[in-house]
Amino acid sequence: MTVYFVGAGPGDPDLITVKGRDLIARAGAILFAGSLVSETALRWAPANCRILDSKEMTLEEMSAWLVAQAQEHAVVVRLQTGDPSLYGALIELVQPLDTAGIAIQVVPGVSSAMASAAAAVESLTLPEVTQSVIFTRVEGRTPMPEGESLAELAGHHCTLCIFLSITLISRVVAALRQAGWNDTAPILVVHKASWPEQEKIVRGTVATIAALCRSEKIASQAMIIASPNLGARHWTSLAKSKLYDPCFTHRFRR
Ligand code: SAH
Repeated sequence: MTVYFVGAGPGDPDLITVKGRDLIARAGAILFAGSLVSETALRWAPANCRILDSKEMTLEEMSAWLVAQAQEHAVVVRLQTGDPSLYGALIELVQPLDTAGIAIQVVPGVSSAMASAAAAVESLTLPEVTQSVIFTRVEGRTPMPEGESLAELAGHHCTLCIFLSITLISRVVAALRQAGWNDTAPILVVHKASWPEQEKIVRGTVATIAALCRSEKIASQAMIIASPNLGARHWTSLAKSKLYDPCFTHRFRR
């Protein structure tokens, strides 16, 4: 009896890992995040598998169900959107299982941040532009710890992947401005990245992105990416990675 926390990936059922898919195929019970995980991810579940949507359950109900299923089945799966380590209430669900003495394992998944970059053919890091990525959100009902306000993080001028914030996009824009981002700085919003036939890519700037999202009626399941790298595919001059620069000497080349 093991409860596996499996990252289902960002939406496209083909973006689950082989390991995650194999666990689903062996599962006696699956608890899935109904509002987010595409039900097609369940296409590999065995016919007699007990399958429950956690959409309307409290955390207590979810952990009680997982504990009960683990007494009956060798493989129980908690299927989460993207990667389980990002905004997934992982620890809240693991603690009651630890208390009950039930073994758990986490199987990583493709985060929506990665799927959004892929959809738009963007690189989150680029030599001499930015080499860092911050995964964050704006403050909503969950307060931000000290030092992590978006305005403070945006002050690094690196790539920001902003989760859970599309309904607060005007707050995102205000924070970027406060941190000194120009009105012309490019912003990318990807709605339902990787979802077959539903993915939408919106490109704008600090000045235009909020209105563009409003007119495209994007109000949920969207990743906001602010980055000095955006659009680099079309740049004519690109700083090459130093490692391949002929003027750059290192250990193996002088
Ligand atoms: N663990 C998930 C994140 C869960 S929080 C992951 O790794 O992706 C939910 C937020 O993730 C949403 O508000 C949205 O910002 C983002 N998100 C989830 N799926 C998405 C998708 N297919 N496209 C764009 N953003 C998505």
